[in-house]
Amino acid sequence: MPLTLILRPGRDKAIRQRHPWLFTGAVARREGSSPDGSAEIRDAAGSLLGRGFLSPSSPLVARLWSFGEGPVDGPYVGRIVEQAVALRREVVPPETTGYRLVHAEGDRLPGLIVDRYGSVLVVQATTEGTERARPLWLPSLRAFFPDAAVVQKNALPSREGEGLSTRDERLAGEVLPRRVPFLERGLRFLADVEEGQKTGFFLDQRENRRLVRERAAGRRVLNMFSYSGAFGVAALAGGASRLAQVDVSRPALDLARENHEANGQDANRVEFVAADAFEDLRRRVAAGEQWDLVVTDPPAFAKRKDDVDRACRGYKDVNRLAIKLLAPGGLLLACSCSGPIAPSLFQQVLFSASLEAATPVQLLSRHGAGADHPVSLDVPEGEYLKAFLLRRP
Ligand code: SAH
Repeated sequence: MPLTLILRPGRDKAIRQRHPWLFTGAVARREGSSPDGSAEIRDAAGSLLGRGFLSPSSPLVARLWSFGEGPVDGPYVGRIVEQAVALRREVVPPETTGYRLVHAEGDRLPGLIVDRYGSVLVVQATTEGTERARPLWLPSLRAFFPDAAVVQKNALPSREGEGLSTRDERLAGEVLPRRVPFLERGLRFLADVEEGQKTGFFLDQRENRRLVRERAAGRRVLNMFSYSGAFGVAALAGGASRLAQVDVSRPALDLARENHEANGQDANRVEFVAADAFEDLRRRVAAGEQWDLVVTDPPAFAKRKDDVDRACRGYKDVNRLAIKLLAPGGLLLACSCSGPIAPSLFQQVLFSASLEAATPVQLLSRHGAGADHPVSLDVPEGEYLKAFLLRRP
């Protein structure tokens, strides 16, 4: 008999609304055993709600991969992967070989992230259940990308929390080069898949980089928290007159230099600053600098709800200083990738920042991740990136 989790009475509502997360507190009892990590989920009366994979050592004890009668097997997962591929055919812009191919719950593949960089697929299996489901998802990925190398990046807090290995694994293909090349709207970028942040690049900012490229002509551009400099590369491609890339990580700035060079841009024109962004901004404000386009894209200050207050102070400080640097008519693209900070809260934080900067600011438009990072309406937690375009009149 397959493993069955039977829920407590009245604890089936979220799952009936297709939310795939099952917490231990909702489970009344277990029956049977699970050699492959899969489980059936049933309500208190014994009716089947769906099937999923277990993360036995997590309070989020299972994620549902289906809500119907049918089996969760290779053909079923293959059809879902096929739909993920079909979406990217629709939404990935031309001359773009770097994009998110699978966005976990947003693509109905819980805990599974797959980023494509040209001929390399970088996978994150964020939970034990996702890892146990590998025999279902890996063959279909390989069927769509038979020549691709596939690596699984494992240094993730969620994996550590579940006691899983945090050493990266090669699942298919050749050993990777130190830099993996790919295209984004015709610009050339290099991902540092092995040592870099995330899966090697911040693919989620693609549409916002386009925005910067479109607005950069003749502007002095200050790219705070630049990582590998992608916003700055877009700015120079759009005709920026001056560019500074600021990040605390020297390896990130080395990669930024390489990204400029890959596009035939003169890296000697660029000011690379390895510094704490808060200190760097304060120094620039004290020096009376003025910029025409500033990007602030800090790391997620809030990963959990408990962090929200402290995180808001961080976002406020960064953007207060950034606003002070804006020349009249200057633009600020203020980003937050903190899931627990809702767009409305982020807007309040930006309001406080502009009050404290004693500078009124206009909100021109609100943006997020591209459509290769879809959010399931069933799982709104999947939406995390906010990018507000502001202007000093
Ligand atoms: N905008 C980038 C992604 C930024 S990720 C892109 O589009 O690719 C956040 C970056 O902030 C990381 O590169 C990290 O090294 C950097 N960082 C973290 N804390 C910092 C600090 N206090 N000062 C400056 N940079 C910091």
